[in-house]
Amino acid sequence: MSQHIPTRLYLSENELPTSWYNLRADMKEKPAPMLHPGTLKPVVSDDLAPVFCMGCIEQELDETSREIPIPDALMGFYRSFRPAPLIRANFLEKALGTPAEIYYKFEGTNTSGSHKLNSAAAQAFYAKQEGMTSLTTETGAGQWGSALSMACAFYDIKLTVFMVKVSSQQKPYRKALMETYGAKVIASPSDTTESGRKILADFPDTGGSLGCAISEAIELAVKTPNCRYVLGSVLNHVLLHQSIIGQEVKAAFDKYGVKPDVIIGCAGGGSNLGGLIAPFMGAKLRGEADYRFIAVEPASCPSFTRGKYAYDFGDTAKTTPLMKMCTLGNGYMPPPNHAGGLRYHGMNSTLSKLYKDGLLEVRTAVQNEVFDAAARFAKSEGILPAPESSHAIKAAIDEALECKKTGEKKVILFGLSGTGYFDMSAYQSYNQGTLTDHVPADEELEKGFASLPNIAR
Ligand SMILES: *Cc1c(COP(=O)(O)O)cnc(C)c1O
Repeated sequence: MSQHIPTRLYLSENELPTSWYNLRADMKEKPAPMLHPGTLKPVVSDDLAPVFCMGCIEQELDETSREIPIPDALMGFYRSFRPAPLIRANFLEKALGTPAEIYYKFEGTNTSGSHKLNSAAAQAFYAKQEGMTSLTTETGAGQWGSALSMACAFYDIKLTVFMVKVSSQQKPYRKALMETYGAKVIASPSDTTESGRKILADFPDTGGSLGCAISEAIELAVKTPNCRYVLGSVLNHVLLHQSIIGQEVKAAFDKYGVKPDVIIGCAGGGSNLGGLIAPFMGAKLRGEADYRFIAVEPASCPSFTRGKYAYDFGDTAKTTPLMKMCTLGNGYMPPPNHAGGLRYHGMNSTLSKLYKDGLLEVRTAVQNEVFDAAARFAKSEGILPAPESSHAIKAAIDEALECKKTGEKKVILFGLSGTGYFDMSAYQSYNQGTLTDHVPADEELEKGFASLPNIAR
């Protein structure tokens, strides 16, 4: 007889996973290596050392260690906000009338509001350990900046955040939160860096983009002593840190005897999705179990489904190493009417590879249907979801409704990557019926592709 499964699948403190899981270790064919933009040779740690902390560089370049222990001191910080709740969506299931079981992992209970704190905590920890006194970063919607501000306050490190200009105007409370934790917030593009000034000269009216903000943050980091740059998504070490999400889900599911059939996450740069699916994808790659994996991206920034699988820069000023990924081109500017987050031009290289290998399904959704799903979820489960996370909710609801048609009792898991508390102006637009659905025309995408570097591999 199967044991009783509670609404919340609890893990006690001593059941928490104590290592991250490195999915690349189980991939027979590895993702294409990062290339040095000058030599076009695979990067080595010395290439990255001026920009990133060594702890993160080692993890970035490590394709073989399967389990990477979480340092004890960091584990202590993790315990202050983890485990994140894993919840059975009983009320949503009822509202949908589906025979499917739906579970979600909610990463929005910490004050910064999302999964991003998992990597922010790790990156601030390594910076402190390596004697850094300050860090720089970019933030789009503000979640990453908030998470890193919180982590830097914890480890007593100075932080400068370049915040995409439109977001800083739309989200003044995010800025206030970061400043409360002690961070300095600068709207990007700004006149404080060469790359910012150049972008302003070329596009005086731009609302900014993550790519621009990254260029500014890297420039400041390399020009400041004992300062490094940290990135909140896209890179493989960030996915590694986020594997704590999937590790916890796996531990709880194993404890209660639940096996998911479908695992769904939203994808911007790929970190929450990559972290959620990691241990399950690993089991699939090793031939131990089978699952379906679904990524959901916004129709207005469709890097997986309409991007090119090519080497590209991570930033607009073309300063980062080259990554082979599904990309809309570093020059792609997502439409300014896009409220739903997930605005980055490229996708993590490991997830891009899995997608190209047919191991990951990808769907797109437009803003209004995403917010419809968010409202439906909020009404039944009570939690107000982040617009980003609501892309995953949309697909989970669609899967559950499909089960209603076929009568299948699938077990659906989705990642609820964050809270929507800081997105009230987007909810306001939705409620007033003023959100528009913009799907870029091929010509708009061509402009982005034109910015791709010309590299024959
Ligand atoms: C940043 C963010 C995302 C997108 O980033 P990924 O790296 O793709 O996970 C998704 N959800 C929330 C709540 C976020 O803050």
